[in-house]
Amino acid sequence: MSTEFKSHRQGSVKQITSHSNPIVKEIKGLVAQRKHRRESGLFVAEGLKLATDAMNAGWGVRYLAIGPEGRENKMALEAAAKAKARGALILEVNNAILSAITRRDNPQMVVGVYEQKTVPLSAVDPSHSKTWVCLDRVRDPGNLGTVIRTADAVGASGIILIGETTDPFAVEAVRATMGSLFHMPLVRCTSDAFLKFRETWPGPVVGTHLRGTKDYREVDYREPVLLMMGNEQSGLTDDLADACTDLVKIPQEGQADSLNLAVATAVMLFEVRRNYLKL
Ligand code: SAM
Repeated sequence: MSTEFKSHRQGSVKQITSHSNPIVKEIKGLVAQRKHRRESGLFVAEGLKLATDAMNAGWGVRYLAIGPEGRENKMALEAAAKAKARGALILEVNNAILSAITRRDNPQMVVGVYEQKTVPLSAVDPSHSKTWVCLDRVRDPGNLGTVIRTADAVGASGIILIGETTDPFAVEAVRATMGSLFHMPLVRCTSDAFLKFRETWPGPVVGTHLRGTKDYREVDYREPVLLMMGNEQSGLTDDLADACTDLVKIPQEGQADSLNLAVATAVMLFEVRRNYLKL
């Protein structure tokens, strides 16, 4: 963690007007560099909805930058009060600084810096599980964020990230989750660790594969389910595909080779959880 992050007294309010302020530079670094996020264990999430989600779900917050509109907004002020009570440093900034931090012309009124949180694979308990979405080497942050959002929407138990993946705490991924990041447990593991864990799994392990011979609507998805989704370029590795109880395909017509990963995950999740989803 950088000395700059540690040196400021937390749980207080600070006005910042200069782009060269070290805290502003640090937050920009968290947006721009994975290395910086890894070393600090922090990440940036934009917007009032995400700040409210983070506060309600009890995530650790380090900074909350609040612009002029936010300082007139009841919900933003409530989020800031909660963040401050939780030890965050509240940064009163102008729109130009908010724009510079998030590299957006029309910045959100609130930008938060939160503590990353993941769950160990050993904490995944099948007897308290519904469906876990297992993503093999997901590459695209937008896909990952969209999958997290969809998994949350169907009431899945969480996401297991297998192998080298895109950073779930990258600003593009966080943006695409629309706040679901704060509600979905995230596990990170190697392929070997996953394969070992899978041996003890009592329920179906359903892989989606373009070489699948079973229609995805013909499987008994009795929970707890592991739903396996492949890498955007190469699909599931042979090792992961071999570890599945079923390999299914979503039938297609037309010229497209395959569906986008996030779209395929959504189609699958609504089928897997069909009997549990009620209006
Ligand atoms: N060229 C890759 C391949 O050969 O698998 C395409 C990967 S596809 C873009 C990414 C992932 O989405 C796949 O690994 C699979 O999990 C899922 N997927 C996409 N279309 C699918 C379909 N029609 N049936 C089953 N899964 C599909």
